Amino acid sequence: METPPPVLEEFRRKEDEHMGRKGRYYISTPIYYPSDRLHIGHVYTTTVADCLARWHRFIGDDVLFLTGSDEHGQKIERIAKSQGIGPKAYVDKIVDSFKVLWKRYNISYDDFVRTTEDRHRQVVQEVFRRIYEKGDIYKGEYEGWYCTPCEAFWVETKLEDGNCPDCGRPVELVKEESYFFRLSNYADRLLRHIEENPEFIQPESRRNEMISFIKSGLEDLCVSRTTFDWGIPVPMDDDHVIYVWIDALTNYLTGAGFLQDEEKFARYWPADLHLVGKEIIRFHTIIWPIILMALDLPLPKTVFGHGWLLMEHDKMSKSKGNVIDPIELADEFGVDAVRYFLLREVSFGQDGNFSRRALIDRINADLANDLGNLLHRSVAMIIRYRDGVIPEPGALTELEQDLQQLAAATAAGVNEHIEALEINAALSAIWRLIGRANKYIDEAEPWTLNKTEQTERLDTVLYHLGETLRILALLVKSFMPDTGEKIWAQLGISESIESCRFENTAWGGLEAGTKVVKGDPIFPRIDLDKLAEAEEASGVVEAKQETAEQAVEKKAEKPQVSIEDFAKLDLRVAEVKAAEPVPGADRLLKLTVTIGEEERQIVAGIAQHYTPDEMVGKRIVVVANLKPAKLRGVLSEGMLLAASTKDGLGLVTVERDLPSGAQVK
Ligand SMILES: [Zn+2]
Repeated sequence: METPPPVLEEFRRKEDEHMGRKGRYYISTPIYYPSDRLHIGHVYTTTVADCLARWHRFIGDDVLFLTGSDEHGQKIERIAKSQGIGPKAYVDKIVDSFKVLWKRYNISYDDFVRTTEDRHRQVVQEVFRRIYEKGDIYKGEYEGWYCTPCEAFWVETKLEDGNCPDCGRPVELVKEESYFFRLSNYADRLLRHIEENPEFIQPESRRNEMISFIKSGLEDLCVSRTTFDWGIPVPMDDDHVIYVWIDALTNYLTGAGFLQDEEKFARYWPADLHLVGKEIIRFHTIIWPIILMALDLPLPKTVFGHGWLLMEHDKMSKSKGNVIDPIELADEFGVDAVRYFLLREVSFGQDGNFSRRALIDRINADLANDLGNLLHRSVAMIIRYRDGVIPEPGALTELEQDLQQLAAATAAGVNEHIEALEINAALSAIWRLIGRANKYIDEAEPWTLNKTEQTERLDTVLYHLGETLRILALLVKSFMPDTGEKIWAQLGISESIESCRFENTAWGGLEAGTKVVKGDPIFPRIDLDKLAEAEEASGVVEAKQETAEQAVEKKAEKPQVSIEDFAKLDLRVAEVKAAEPVPGADRLLKLTVTIGEEERQIVAGIAQHYTPDEMVGKRIVVVANLKPAKLRGVLSEGMLLAASTKDGLGLVTVERDLPSGAQVK
């Protein structure tokens, strides 16, 4: 890799223009660690990044939106070993689940960097080599503490009660030959940068934490390990693998084309925003900038450490069993409703709280009632009074002037809030316009105008409703992409919403003569009583709160039953005749089975473990006398038996070839 160093003048010029620079926007999420499937907290971070990326594209920026997976390290090696597979096979499987999740949540990333990719290995090794040749990396002996879950080194004095100060778990004593990175060489320069560039670490509270951390003294950082193999080898010494954080942070260079596509790199570097959870801000605001300084590269404009999404005010974690599965949540409530909740409910930068009840309240109040109703009422009146055709507006009254002014102010305000990373405030501003438009209907009383045949006045009011909705569709689409499109479709506008930019939010874009299209309510109200019944019937309330492991433990704790109790269950062998997916529910399969002569339909949550084709012909065991229930609106007349852990699911079957209908006892 003998690529000449990029032209520094070019970078310096770009750094000077850093503030207020327009035209391009490079945003990244952390690359996620495939030690497990992702939860709603990861969806939160990634949805925020997606929303910012979409908004910047909307205002005409050339956007690079990066995400990825951080696949090396001792923890991964251990998990893979415990499952009896190689680390690459293990991460491949988990990373596939990341990509499925991002697709489901409409995450519009431009590149996905896997740290096991060749392009990344080359960049990491070259970065290491350059810093070594500069004399900032040297070989020595490490003796100290290591937290494997956090992949973090600790000196004794920073431990809390002998445990990792970040996660509270036990640390291990490590003694091995290591390469060290002279962080201390750069401490003063870093401190100066942080002090001179208040936007570098946000929010303010994290900035102050980092300043005092640096002032307490930076130890040289151990940047290689020899006791395991699952990592990128040190280029000049392949007994060592490169410390996983050096490897991971460098993904931001790989994704921008460093050493591989100079034109791309010159265009996008330095990054505008690294979005990270507050628990990893230290790595991003100390180690990362020092790597860049050692490489003579400009630093990212902002590292933003956002808060955690708490589960009923408690940190979400697998060991606590309060992890929310984002796919199940999307199946139940819809992707846009979840995106909206995350972006609106959490004051960005602070901890937010997740609860189903709060989500349902947001859906019913903001989405169904405010936005959904505005669309529904407006389109219905345009159809009823004007055969669905958007009329030409006539003379304006104060009401219309007021609405137009608010629409313009809202568009500008949303842009300012996004620039300031005040995402929930941006949505509040949009909802003020929605509220104003609903009030406008009540004030203008189109039904009275119709009855009293005030034709021109009615035309004006209907036009203003349609046009406000058009602007709203443009404003919400970065937050809720599908909803923007649905509003657009109901307005019947032929130009694609994708091709519209911020300029299109100017008043008057809706052409008279456009024919609206009656559609379904975009956010049906959730009936709380019905929901409670359904949850009780399907056991979803409990399932939501516990991990597979806990469920297993809990089963072992169930009270003893008599043989009479067991005999109440009618367990039968059934044969699967047909299987198909359930639209909109990617965990469910609809099965047609025979139990003896009788044919039944069973809906089962196995779609992530079996394809429909795999199911056909299988002999399974079903509870034949279970009270029928509807799952996602589809009737299920029985339940199949399966065993599961967090790592997989297997159907219960009979060992010999018994006919369908045979009793299981
Ligand atoms: Zn830890």
